[in-house]
Amino acid sequence: IEPLLRTKVIAIDRLAKTVSLEGGRTLNYTKLALTTGTRVRRLDCEGADNAQVHYIRSLDDSIALKNKLAEVERVAIIGGGFVGLEVAAVTRKLGKDVIVYEAEERLMGRVVSAMLSEFYTDLHRKNGVSLHMGDRIDRVKVCDNTLEIYANKQHSLDCDIIVAGIGAIANDEIALEAGLSCDRGIIVDNRCLTSDPDVVAAGDCTVHYNQFAGKLVRLESVQNAVDQAKVAASTMLGGEAVYDQVPWFWSDQYDAKLQIAGINSGYDKYLTAGRPEDNKFSIFYFKDDSLIGADSINDPSSHMAVRKIMTTKIASMVQIQENLDDLRSFAQQ
Ligand SMILES: Cc1cc2nc3c(=O)[nH]c(=O)nc-3n(C[C@H](O)[C@H](O)[C@H](O)COP(=O)(O)OP(=O)(O)OC[C@H]3O[C@@H](n4cnc5c(N)ncnc54)[C@H](O)[C@@H]3O)c2cc1C
Repeated sequence: IEPLLRTKVIAIDRLAKTVSLEGGRTLNYTKLALTTGTRVRRLDCEGADNAQVHYIRSLDDSIALKNKLAEVERVAIIGGGFVGLEVAAVTRKLGKDVIVYEAEERLMGRVVSAMLSEFYTDLHRKNGVSLHMGDRIDRVKVCDNTLEIYANKQHSLDCDIIVAGIGAIANDEIALEAGLSCDRGIIVDNRCLTSDPDVVAAGDCTVHYNQFAGKLVRLESVQNAVDQAKVAASTMLGGEAVYDQVPWFWSDQYDAKLQIAGINSGYDKYLTAGRPEDNKFSIFYFKDDSLIGADSINDPSSHMAVRKIMTTKIASMVQIQENLDDLRSFAQQ
């Protein structure tokens, strides 16, 4: 393997089976794997190009933010998703004043259930984070060393730096320009094949029909990237592997370790084991009386059991309820 670092692929010619590199070089391929990931979505309001508006994507971004945090006191975080809230937890631990702006009505609303949003709202408030829900930032104004934030056209507050965690955009432009099917990501099947039989794709840049979600999804997770990469490699080598893993994800905020198994969108019933007050509980989600996922806080054994159950069987709500005391054994039956 010859790594070509600091080398951007700028075009794919599927007829000639070549890729063009920045700088003019062209490489031939027999099979091509696209693993271009995502880039941060940037704030596009007035004043958002200020150097004190930070994003986190790379190690360099994190180091720059860490260094900056040593010099400032007031941190405004835009976006109450996983990235924004993990930054909020870390900056509170550093003793900074932290405000989180979330445009929607609840935290992490794109991914977690209302019950879990409520748990995280309490957790962040208890830890001293000021949460501004339903506020959309429309202007950042610089006054000396202070950033004035405007939300919903009103001056909202002043801060020293802004950290924006407002999502990611799939790097699918070279695939689109090459005529591959894309839908806010490169569309792949369960063998990670694109619409060209000689081109596979894997990871954050892809969109796939996920059997656990019952729809096309673009997953941004290490699990998805690693598992799809194995399948994509198998496909390129003529193997038969298919991508059918239960999706899972984690997030660490303060002393709450969240582990998510499955995709709970469209659930019609749920079951809770343990109590949020004890900082250890799981919520199990069901659709048409079948387990579709679980969110676990400081409850790794339930998380692992759910992943196993969803891989091997269809489990009803009654079955989960009856086996709550020993889900691991139920998973192994
Ligand atoms: C702050 C943050 C926290 C996260 N936390 C978690 C977490 O707790 N758990 C979890 O499961 N996931 C987490 N993720 C998501 C996880 O990092 C991604 O799912 C994973 O990195 C995806 O891997 P990938 O290889 O698909 O894409 P990437 O890691 O984005 O890699 C894509 C690479 O392709 C390169 N590239 C793009 N276009 C071109 C081109 N044209 N030519 C050449 N090179 C190109 C990019 O420079 C990049 O290096 C987090 C992400 C962020 C940003």
